[in-house]
Amino acid sequence: MAQNSPKVGIVSLGCPKALVDSEQIITQLRAEGYTISPSYNQADLVVINTCGFIEEAIEESLDAIGEALNENGKVIVTGCLGAKGDVVKEHYPNVLAVTGPHALQEVMQAVHNHLPPEHDPYTSLIPPQGIKLTPQHYAYIKISEGCNHRCSFCIIPSLRGDLDSRQIDAVLKEAENLVSAGVRELLIISQDTSAYGVDIKYRTHFYQGRPVKTRFYDLAKELSQLGVWVRLHYVYPYPHVDEIIPLMRPDGLLPYLDIPFQHASPSVLKAMRRPAHSENTLARLNEWRVLCPELKIRSTFIVGFPGETDEDFKQLLEFLEQAQLDRVGCFTYSPVEGAAANQLPGQVPDAIKQQRYEQFMALQSQISADKLKQAVGSSQTVLVDQVDEDKILARTYGDAPEIDGLVVVEGTAANVKPGEFLDVTITDSDEYDLYAEMD
Ligand code: SF4
Repeated sequence: MAQNSPKVGIVSLGCPKALVDSEQIITQLRAEGYTISPSYNQADLVVINTCGFIEEAIEESLDAIGEALNENGKVIVTGCLGAKGDVVKEHYPNVLAVTGPHALQEVMQAVHNHLPPEHDPYTSLIPPQGIKLTPQHYAYIKISEGCNHRCSFCIIPSLRGDLDSRQIDAVLKEAENLVSAGVRELLIISQDTSAYGVDIKYRTHFYQGRPVKTRFYDLAKELSQLGVWVRLHYVYPYPHVDEIIPLMRPDGLLPYLDIPFQHASPSVLKAMRRPAHSENTLARLNEWRVLCPELKIRSTFIVGFPGETDEDFKQLLEFLEQAQLDRVGCFTYSPVEGAAANQLPGQVPDAIKQQRYEQFMALQSQISADKLKQAVGSSQTVLVDQVDEDKILARTYGDAPEIDGLVVVEGTAANVKPGEFLDVTITDSDEYDLYAEMD
């Protein structure tokens, strides 16, 4: 990289989808000869990829913009808060440009306008897999943008538009490049992974000389043959998801599904306008577990949604008890500016939301602790995330990075490195993590 190449600082806030946008911006900047600067004062310009999902995220994004303006002065804003351009401009009229999410071309145009690229033939030598912000051994692949649903608490479709699936050949090529570069785990993300391809009528493309359809099943099947862990996030319990369960195994397409159920009471789900809300979810989970006993399910829920009665909440707890989910996140409902749910009657007082949250978490912690206890004594293959002086932090196939639990392996070994698979025996557990020793 040329010493005088223009330097851009990047601040990436928000969810994994925003992280993928940041990775694409960095890849493009590097491809054009820009250097990525680790500090404000060494950068010629700063790009901030913002989140605008909930109030706290908006504040965090606005604070980050203010800090970058103070420290550097030349700031381009992109991402979900950027979609609300007036909010950014009202607070900070001096920002150079504001774009919405996944606007790579617009961000690059703004960078070119304020910091022209330098011509250097060496700068095009970027690795074919692009530049990743996650540790080298796992990577997120975003298979689509936007969403065709209109959940009443969510403003993502108004920020990001309707479902827009990437062509399957491009997705598979990206996956292949990542695997060749040493990635051991691929995390497939989108707003609605099971709807992949529906917007482009499952169009056929050619990959490695073979016709492949842009479809959820075909994607899962192709990815399952790459020889690495493949984890599916944001899947809804539609009947067609049944087809992929037989493809699952602990060393390929992982027996793991991240299904954001959000609630279990039919009336709350209806008010939320959730996808697949009329499916018999418990029956479907049971069928999947018969087909694939290793299956781990992760989910998230919202308590205190407008109109949620004591009876609705009781149904939610009963569902939790029966569904025996492996990993669960819970949020108290908080209104998002512009969301339809803000107009719903029966807003739940904060104290009751909090009380329900605590009751929910107490029950789930017990379920989770009991499930983890069942793993004690078993042998597992784990993927190493981090090697410390006296312990190794790793994960089983049942745990996604950053959101689920860990396996803490006692002791260490000089030859063990992040990204390697290790065989361990589980010796202990708590309500969140497992403890193990090397075999
Ligand atoms: S499925 Fe619902 S919550 Fe998820 S992005 Fe689409 S509208 Fe939002």
